[in-house]
Amino acid sequence: MNNTFIQPLASLNRVGRMLDKRLRKLDLATTLDLVFYFPHRYEDFSEICDIENLIPGQQTTVRGQIELIKARRSWKRRMTLTEAVIRDQTGSIKAIWFNQPFTAKVLKAGDEIFLSGKTVANQYGCHFNNPIYEKVKIETAHTARIVPIYSLTEGITQKQVSFLMSQITPSTSLVIDWLPNDIISQYKLLPLSKALKQIHFPDSWASLEQAKRRLGFDELLTIILYNLKNKRDLNERQAINVPFSELKMREFVQKLPFQLTVAQKKCAWQIIKDMAGIKPMNRLLEGDVGSGKTIVAAIAMYNASLSGYESLLMAPTEILATQHYENLKKLFGAENVALVTRHHKKISSDRKIIVGTHALIQQKIKFNNLALAVVDEQHRFGVAQRKALQDKSGDPHTTLHLLSMTATPIPRTLALAVYGDLGLSIINEMPKGRKKIITRLVNESKRADAYNFIKKKIASGEQVFVICPLVNESDKLGVKSVEQEYERLKQEIFSEYKIAKLHGKLKPRDKELIMENFQNKKIDILVATSVVEVGVDIKNATIMMIEDADRFGLAQLHQFRGRVGRGDRQSYCLLFTSSKTANTIKRLNALVKSNDGFKLAEYDLNLRGPGDVYGKEQSGFISTLKVANLADHKLISSAKQAAEEIIDDISKFPLVQIKLNNFIKTIHLE
Ligand code: ADP
Ligand code: MG
Repeated sequence: MNNTFIQPLASLNRVGRMLDKRLRKLDLATTLDLVFYFPHRYEDFSEICDIENLIPGQQTTVRGQIELIKARRSWKRRMTLTEAVIRDQTGSIKAIWFNQPFTAKVLKAGDEIFLSGKTVANQYGCHFNNPIYEKVKIETAHTARIVPIYSLTEGITQKQVSFLMSQITPSTSLVIDWLPNDIISQYKLLPLSKALKQIHFPDSWASLEQAKRRLGFDELLTIILYNLKNKRDLNERQAINVPFSELKMREFVQKLPFQLTVAQKKCAWQIIKDMAGIKPMNRLLEGDVGSGKTIVAAIAMYNASLSGYESLLMAPTEILATQHYENLKKLFGAENVALVTRHHKKISSDRKIIVGTHALIQQKIKFNNLALAVVDEQHRFGVAQRKALQDKSGDPHTTLHLLSMTATPIPRTLALAVYGDLGLSIINEMPKGRKKIITRLVNESKRADAYNFIKKKIASGEQVFVICPLVNESDKLGVKSVEQEYERLKQEIFSEYKIAKLHGKLKPRDKELIMENFQNKKIDILVATSVVEVGVDIKNATIMMIEDADRFGLAQLHQFRGRVGRGDRQSYCLLFTSSKTANTIKRLNALVKSNDGFKLAEYDLNLRGPGDVYGKEQSGFISTLKVANLADHKLISSAKQAAEEIIDDISKFPLVQIKLNNFIKTIHLE
């Protein structure tokens, strides 16, 4: 988009070198980036309350004059306290700010201000605690209205961002609307400029909804267009048609040490049918952790091998690839399966089933008759990596059949939008006889008991995960980090045990070593971030303890829980939270009550955005959905309909084309 709206942020008022640098940490370089940096929530300060009517504990805004303001250091509490008294016609109230000495410099007695925030009643009397304030002007940005709240990084305040937004939103009429007018009127959408203004500074909740609807429509439309284009491109290509070797397959399935579930059979059959055609298969196999996806993939690979074709299976980590390799060797014999990682490169071409990490893409391996590529934990790979794998056939005229697998529970409506180009197979039942994992929300007062319980389990040879939301201690006060918690547990609680830490900032080789040691029981307790989310099978791990559980989406928590309960022993998931809000407790209790990943994801999607539900590491399309309401089935089908109208004549809509190309660029770069 080339238009006069786009300016470097440094050109705005009060953006110095420091702030510019900090904004870049949020990937914000231009006014266009900034205007698409949406608030993650809003607070309603639109009603002004008389001071005499204030009720402690409620969010409110008052308007009054500062009678008195002063800052002092509290030596006992090692902080500065700024105290002010504000008066309106009905009474007066105190406001207290902790560690904000500048407040006393900005505000002075006699100023007419708005104060917004929560009032609390304690030993200081009823007062505002760290309220947002603003001097009274004609148009207020931060108080006395629906106030946007942005997610920020260190050194940037809500006020700064609002102030920058208020500089650029008056010119959103310069942002060129990429949607054709027909579509805008047919689906009754707000014009882009208006939506951008309202998403930051909504006049009312209703106009905020309108803005979200428009911007959500844009997000969905872009993804759906991408999927349609992808589907068309694939349909123009050819793949090897792999016949169903019925007799031998029956024999194979009968010899398995267990009976396939009905869902496994159904999914395997869908895959085999797809592969019997000459159009490249592009299918997503979704199934909860432990539902048995691997055997379904193995069936497809075995069927291909019976006709002399090779298959690839790519996993996101070396541990996982090795685990698959060992399992497949047991099924098919060592002479039929090969492993390709950075450390194991030798492959002899007579092996029909080749398992590996992304080394499979990078290395020049000679294949004879490659027909199928399987990607395990597909959300861990970028779109570009999956495409690169699919193009491995070695023959420019054919494309591989692609089977993607994921344990991420993505409800059908969402899948329709984000994976619209894929056929969907869902394993919706667990193999018989699994022990249910016992999940408990543990009160802080029972923490010591939990540690004692853990010690008993370790004594009987079991292993434990402790999950924390952060790697390092951070400005986000009170949230547990792996580094801190590891030190604390090691020194104060589990000094006699073997304890290790694992997080994304470690080198890949170190991460793998730690997982290997955990697998070999050289470690009792592993303190980790969400990196353990992915499918490793550690039969001995029976306790999953999660700190600050409210910081994770339910789908993600469910994935963590799936790391235990893989062996014969009873497993436990212990949730801790310092949050006391009713909603959080309710959300976490949903996890206690339900073992159904899909139900949990759907429940959470109605409350929070997909980014929060699935976590930041979920790469790909989901992370591009910021405002789209995924419970709005009507909006999804409208976007789908619009995409189908546009795709045939896309060359007539150059702005749509540009938007789509930009989208392709970003997702292929990730
Ligand atoms: P995931 O879907 O999480 O990848 P896996 O494929 O790793 O699950 O399977 C988990 C475990 O369940 C494996 O040990 C596998 O052998 C076993 N399994 C798979 N299908 C069945 C079944 N139908 N009955 C019993 N056990 C099964
Ligand atoms: Mg798996």
